[in-house]
Amino acid sequence: MINTMTLSYDPPQVAIPQTVRLSFESLKYSTQSAAQPVRLLGTDCLIKPHVTLAAHTSFRVGGPAQWYVTPQRFAELQASFEWAQAQALPITLLGAGSNLLISDRGLPGLVISTRRLRQNQFNLSSGEVTVGAGEPLPRLAWQMAERGLQGMEWAVGIPGTVGGAVVMNAGAHGGCTADYLVNAHVLLPDGTTKILTPQDLRYRYRTSALQGKNWLVTQATFQLQPGFDPATLTDLTNQHYKHRRTTQPYHLPSCGSVFRNPIGHKAGCLIEQAGLKGYQIGGAQIAERHANFILNCGNAVASDIFRLIQHVQQQVEQRWSLNLETEVKILGDFQAL
Ligand SMILES: Cc1cc2nc3c(=O)[nH]c(=O)nc-3n(C[C@H](O)[C@H](O)[C@H](O)COP(=O)(O)OP(=O)(O)OC[C@H]3O[C@@H](n4cnc5c(N)ncnc54)[C@H](O)[C@@H]3O)c2cc1C
Repeated sequence: MINTMTLSYDPPQVAIPQTVRLSFESLKYSTQSAAQPVRLLGTDCLIKPHVTLAAHTSFRVGGPAQWYVTPQRFAELQASFEWAQAQALPITLLGAGSNLLISDRGLPGLVISTRRLRQNQFNLSSGEVTVGAGEPLPRLAWQMAERGLQGMEWAVGIPGTVGGAVVMNAGAHGGCTADYLVNAHVLLPDGTTKILTPQDLRYRYRTSALQGKNWLVTQATFQLQPGFDPATLTDLTNQHYKHRRTTQPYHLPSCGSVFRNPIGHKAGCLIEQAGLKGYQIGGAQIAERHANFILNCGNAVASDIFRLIQHVQQQVEQRWSLNLETEVKILGDFQAL
């Protein structure tokens, strides 16, 4: 039985053809002055100037995007890429912003938010689920559990989008994106599309071949196990949810774990053993509950968090000669004024 359901009020996306050159002819954009929003003609989509990114990141810090757009349809995505290229502007891709530290100076160019790319199709018989890149992971976890599709229970506490999970190989509770992904559709800046398999994505711990590329994930297909008892899956999902709420600090803005675990070590343990729990710079603090979390205690700016990251790295390097790499993606200019 194929059960197709759109889980948002957004209209369905346009189907994505495999590896084709797309025509932009019908999508000319208007040329208004730099301070005004730009409407992509033929679409409802507005490219807005000077949009504060703090509202679009889970750290709640970050300066303005020079330009910002939230396309809802595939054609709007294409037009946004074309517009940036015509203006010779760099592009930054944003999911839920839950793994990003963006400079207080903001970002030049066009920031494309993928949060409105939402559409779910799930097959209750086969367990194959196709999801728009903007779909929130926690909502997907609950929805799949309620339908007896087993596999996504681990994702309930990760406040990112499906697109961000594909790029980051997000994971928790022993599960990760790579374990369930069948393929991801991506749109390249030149307007072509590709369908990538997990092999293409060269998945490793919190890493994929998409990192550092401006290839936009538009949707992903997962293979889940059908026919499970919804009550059992919902219970397990709820256990994961509760566990995270009690062991991790969800009460203040953060990006989750800031540092990758070095081989054979837990970053949080190293930070704790360095005596850094509770250490604070400006409004940014190492969490008491989980030392791999940096919290925005209310008035942090991005440079506070950046300096705290550097301090932790220096302390851990001095004590154990270990290089703590960041898991959080640091974007923009952090040079001292
Ligand atoms: C409280 C908290 C708990 C967390 N717990 C976990 C955890 O347990 N496990 C875990 O793995 N992570 C965790 N995270 C981190 C974060 O949620 C994940 O890394 C998540 O996958 C990021 O998704 P996002 O949509 O927010 O991506 P963003 O943070 O917006 O972006 C992350 C990267 O992906 C790129 N990107 C985003 N969307 C797309 C797209 N559609 N196409 C192409 N590139 C894109 C961005 O350019 C950027 O490089 C946690 C974060 C928080 C705040």
